[in-house]
Amino acid sequence: MKARQLDIFNFLNKFNPASMILLASNENPLGMPESARRAAASALEGAGNYPDSNGTALKNALAARLDVPADWLTLGSGSSEILQLAAQVSLKPGEGVVYSQYGFIVYAQAAAHAHAHSTVVPSRDFGHDLDAMRAAIGDDTRLVFVANPNNPTGTFIDAAPLLAFLQSVPSHVTVLLDEAYTEYLSPAQRYDSIAWVRRLPNLIVARTFSKAFGLAGLRIGYGVSQPGLTARMNAHRPRFNVTTPAQAAAVAALGDADFLARTYELNTAGRDQLAAGFKELGLAYIPSSGNFLMVQVGDAQTVHARLLAAGIEVSLLDPYGLPQWLRVSVGLPEQNSALLAALR
Ligand SMILES: *Cc1c(COP(=O)(O)O)cnc(C)c1O
Repeated sequence: MKARQLDIFNFLNKFNPASMILLASNENPLGMPESARRAAASALEGAGNYPDSNGTALKNALAARLDVPADWLTLGSGSSEILQLAAQVSLKPGEGVVYSQYGFIVYAQAAAHAHAHSTVVPSRDFGHDLDAMRAAIGDDTRLVFVANPNNPTGTFIDAAPLLAFLQSVPSHVTVLLDEAYTEYLSPAQRYDSIAWVRRLPNLIVARTFSKAFGLAGLRIGYGVSQPGLTARMNAHRPRFNVTTPAQAAAVAALGDADFLARTYELNTAGRDQLAAGFKELGLAYIPSSGNFLMVQVGDAQTVHARLLAAGIEVSLLDPYGLPQWLRVSVGLPEQNSALLAALR
């Protein structure tokens, strides 16, 4: 049982916690891949010893997959840690960070932790306004965060304008391109950001095993950047930041093409199911390129509480200044149906 689930159970103890429908954190509704479960369980046998701090096996697997040398990779305790490391290596106190309104909450935390100041650029149609972001890069800016797709809005930037933006950023400014949901992109949307890393020494692409790969509870993600920047990231990285079972599970999940394909199909169908349901209910929503949808429900606090009472957890967006909206993760077909029925 998850801690969050347990809290809710204790708070409203009429629920059977196993039947709680968790659509609040964009996790994979299939759970972890069986291949990764077996790998993690067998790695647990070695958990009396420290992990391989270099993460050699996983880096080798990623290097082969992405066609980059292993010294272009940084492993993190979730890609959240990659975002934090990017801030630590790029920013001195008083310097500036630029990101979009409705940008992931960790960007503000990373900036604050580095004693930097944030410039939050108003969004355009709930997505990034790249022209305004470019204009917001000032003399003291040292880091820009861009998420594609964005969380919580689900908006997507096409490859051409994104690359044009990246090329326009001065080379002394680091850009962290956050691709936590990249595995959910349609074939037509996909682009090769690793090729961009080869051209741009100031670019870090961050990815995670928490979402499509189903390993959120093991905390593992990675960054891809040229060796200079990567060496600085690794110098700031806490030793042993990624556990042995997490490394083993990630290697297995990375090789599990079947699981990823099933995840993609399930998500595409589930997203369509939710969108059609919202339309039928007359609820506005933002078309999403991720594994979640943002839907306008009016008094989101009240709707959120009533969904919880019905055994369904979704995410409030007050911290993003979106009190009328909920973010709903795509679940299994029957979970999506239950959510739509409860909303009705
Ligand atoms: C979930 C998410 C991450 C990564 O989370 P970790 O679990 O720390 O890997 C990064 N960026 C965005 C936008 C996310 O939604």
